[in-house]
Amino acid sequence: MAKGYQGNKERQEEISSLGKAVSKRAGFKCEWCENKDNLLIWDYKPDSTPAMETLVLLCQQCRSWADGRKFSSNELRSIRNALWSNVPAVAEGAARVLINCKEPWAREAIEESFIDDNIKAEILK
Ligand SMILES: [Zn+2]
Repeated sequence: MAKGYQGNKERQEEISSLGKAVSKRAGFKCEWCENKDNLLIWDYKPDSTPAMETLVLLCQQCRSWADGRKFSSNELRSIRNALWSNVPAVAEGAARVLINCKEPWAREAIEESFIDDNIKAEILK
């Protein structure tokens, strides 16, 4: 377990070293809903090496959705535009949240997005 903790700590350090660049890319706004409060880096791929493409700047509410918290379908409309991001983690992460709301508009929006076809198929399955 000690090793896991150490790995986690190193990971956190790598993430925080990229944090500034990610925040700048995001324009210091949530990359899903453009909220400016309580922004923190969210790790889209916790099992791989942290990189600009796998980190997303998110507000508290979007982070809670990313972590599986419940939402109303209406609330999720605020992150719909994130599907058009050219950063894979921003678009794919949002798609993985949106698909859970089971609304036709969410599914259609994901289908129309430029997300990689293989990933899209996996999300829409
Ligand atoms: Zn947000």
